[in-house]
Order: sequence, then C-alpha cells, then structure tokens
Amino acid sequence: MSGSEKSAAQDAPRQRYVLDDRGFDEVPKKYRKFYRRWGGPGDELEPNEVLCPICKVVIRSTRELRPGDRVYCMACMARLEVIVGEGGRLEADVIY
Ligand SMILES: [Zn+2]
Repeated sequence: MSGSEKSAAQDAPRQRYVLDDRGFDEVPKKYRKFYRRWGGPGDELEPNEVLCPICKVVIRSTRELRPGDRVYCMACMARLEVIVGEGGRLEADVIY
C-alpha cells in the first residue's frame, strides 16, 4: 500500500486515455465508454476515473483527473467535483 506521496505534477501535462466500452448500459450507447460499474472496495481506480458517491458508478475521463475538475454522472444526473479524499485518493464531491 502506497499512494500517500503528494504529487508534484499539478502543472504537468495531463495523461490522456483511450476509453473502451465496458458495457455500461444505463446510459445511451455513445456515452457508455465514459462509465463503468464499480467492482467494490478492491477495485483500483485509474487516474482518469472517479467514483460517483451517489450511485457508485465509475466515471471515466479521456484525460487524467485532478482536484477541482467537474464531472457529470449521467447515471444519476449529479454534478460532481473531484477532490482529494482520505488516503490521498481522488474522490468526487456532489455540487448539487
Ligand atoms: Zn451517479
């Protein structure tokens, strides 16, 4: 277990990601690649992924996520802001 190390890469170019369709069928087909089902506490999230605290769906971005980013959960229609949670992992906070 590591990850408590603070990232000094705040201003570094963001890594980009190519998303694939994980079969998340609760949103229209063209948006499916932006979401996937969460596999539970043992499911490690990628730097471009954040968990919706409301419906526990993983929101995926084409770029690395950083604190302050706004994301939208189409599954429960929540607007979220990316924050650093306990343990230094990225989490999402509900804006409204
Ligand atoms: Zn949601």
